[in-house]
Amino acid sequence: MQKILKAKVIIEAAQKPPLWNGGVLVKGERIEAVGPFKELEARYPQAEIIDFENSILFPGFINLHTHASMTIFRGLADDMPLMTWLENYIFPVEQHLRRDWVYWGAKLAIAEMLRCGVTTFVDMYLFEPEVIRAVEETGVRAALGEGLFDFPSPGYGPLEKGLALTKELLEKYAGHPRIKIIVCPHATYTCSPETLKAAASLAEEFDTIFHIHLSETKEEVALIKARYGQRPPFHLERLGLLNERLLVAHAVQLVDEEIELFANRGVRVAHCPESNLKLGSGVAPVVALLEAGVLIGLGTDGPASNNDLDFFGEMRTAALIQKGLSFDPTKLPAEKVFEMATSIGAKALKWEGLGVLAPGAQADLAVVSLEAPHLTPFYDPFSLLVYSAKGGDVTDVMVAGSFVLRKGKILTFDEEETRKRVIEIAKEVRALTQKG
Ligand SMILES: [Zn+2]
Repeated sequence: MQKILKAKVIIEAAQKPPLWNGGVLVKGERIEAVGPFKELEARYPQAEIIDFENSILFPGFINLHTHASMTIFRGLADDMPLMTWLENYIFPVEQHLRRDWVYWGAKLAIAEMLRCGVTTFVDMYLFEPEVIRAVEETGVRAALGEGLFDFPSPGYGPLEKGLALTKELLEKYAGHPRIKIIVCPHATYTCSPETLKAAASLAEEFDTIFHIHLSETKEEVALIKARYGQRPPFHLERLGLLNERLLVAHAVQLVDEEIELFANRGVRVAHCPESNLKLGSGVAPVVALLEAGVLIGLGTDGPASNNDLDFFGEMRTAALIQKGLSFDPTKLPAEKVFEMATSIGAKALKWEGLGVLAPGAQADLAVVSLEAPHLTPFYDPFSLLVYSAKGGDVTDVMVAGSFVLRKGKILTFDEEETRKRVIEIAKEVRALTQKG
């Protein structure tokens, strides 16, 4: 069945001028045509017409780094440095983590992300098969991997089992239309060189993304330098792990030499500005990375260090901090941030057919209604989406040609039940932290 989606303005891609009174022809999972509505209507007279009226229709956002299930820890421990936060709060509570917590936490995150126009997210966590189950059921798209550590994990036990689980998932989901399995060693300070090499060879064998936290804080850089005699990027370089499969989260503490190294090796970056600010980690050199030609997209990081998954907020923060830091308002304009949130993110993830609305691309898209005081008046769609829009403004989301959010309602699962379950889980989490 063919559908023509009609909207006041259609953004096909960040580099293209917006299309006014346009239409997107969707057939099955894909987009068949994009153009003026009147032309599409004449060309495809049998197609069902869905009119979004006074709205902007745009490619779904790609959240390039998160730990979705950490919604259950949202607001549990704030206003402290990364290592204190991890070692005193997150890691101890995660020792008691349960499968159902991960599942319901992920579903809550998916509800929040869909309401912000995110259609694809990259996830690294424990009990990742539960996040995968949530993705399968909710109809969203994701790249997912079990977080790997040297120490025993509550998710899989000893490391060998984590690698075996990753391999099993890579085999099981090969060719899945909405799920891509990736290999996720947590960080260079929680994974030995042997662990990193074993993980990298798995990523190579299955030709998938190798995703790791890197150069997030000054403390991490000092620790890796003391342990291995090199800063984190050069530590990975010496292990032969810098290549086009590597997607690093954060990349805050980079020197010029490392930016050049990333560009030369084709390393990709997930920029997580709000998490970096909240944990006092610093600000990534986004403009320099973009100028060097590094593929750098946007991520929210986990909702426990953000504390929301509002992708509009993430875009706005990304743009504003670069301007403030450089005393230059021309840095990181709205269109560029939008590109990071869509097509650059897709390229960084090596996932074809995402991040643009074009013939042959996946029908992953979102709609923002212009019927709100803070979205009035309307001159430029990039400016509106990056500087004025908020999560609640998204009315409709389609993933792989199917609506998952329609007229403000999630169609694929019970959002209210999900909230209730997480409220119950939070009581158990609270009891654990009070005991500790
Ligand atoms: Zn993270």
